[in-house]
Amino acid sequence: RIALKDFTKKFDGVPVIDRMNLEIRDGEMLALLGPSGCGKSTTLLAISGIHRIDGGQILFGDDDISGLPSQKRNVGVVFQNYALYPHMTAFENIAFPLQVRRTEKKEIEARVQEIAELTHIAPYLKRKPGQLSGGQQQRVALARALVRKPGVLLLDEPLANLDAALRLEMRSEIRRIQLETGITAILVTHDQVEAMSMADRIAIMDKGEILQVSPPDEMYRRPTNRFVASFMGNPP
Ligand code: ATP
Ligand code: MG
Repeated sequence: RIALKDFTKKFDGVPVIDRMNLEIRDGEMLALLGPSGCGKSTTLLAISGIHRIDGGQILFGDDDISGLPSQKRNVGVVFQNYALYPHMTAFENIAFPLQVRRTEKKEIEARVQEIAELTHIAPYLKRKPGQLSGGQQQRVALARALVRKPGVLLLDEPLANLDAALRLEMRSEIRRIQLETGITAILVTHDQVEAMSMADRIAIMDKGEILQVSPPDEMYRRPTNRFVASFMGNPP
């Protein structure tokens, strides 16, 4: 279980997120859904340790990890723009998180091969990102995020840069990979359909606040307030 307890984040002294509470269950895919600027990316950056927090706790199990540097947090992150290293091959990109930890070469090769097969990128490991399609680059980014077997996978708008057909394909691919690994995942998105089709539960966020956390069908059928209803496309 991962939990945010009274999580607060300020920019220039102004709170963007003010005492937010959220719990993510083991093995679930939770969609953090909300309009642009509501604080979704800020939340992920805080969980991953890229942003320090200004109040509250981030719990992994019973441990408050909010003081730990990001390398020690055991999280895998995929951003919208993949952020692959352009001069490295797919293999080198995926292997990178293991190399910085001085893993043995044989073990690196075995692990990269294993994760490349899971993400269906094994035939392309010698190519550089510029020689891969958008969907293939995203698979490499997923493989890199998973290669260290993190405790949680954080996905920030992973489908936003893909065309419509590829977006459909990658929705089910990301879900398949999440289910096959059993990893706990947070999917940040502003797309209701994406959240409905991929997540076990949806957390609706607006202006730095969580308004409702429900399974997709319940979120649609029983919204607890007007914002949620209209945002889910089911206004009263
Ligand atoms: P989007 O869907 O557009 O990606 P988001 O929900 O991810 O939006 P955030 O990026 O978390 O939104 O931003 C939340 C708020 O914090 C916004 O008002 C944004 O302008 C502000 N903000 C984000 N990063 C910074 C920063 N580094 N400095 C100052 N303000 C910031
Ligand atoms: Mg964002």
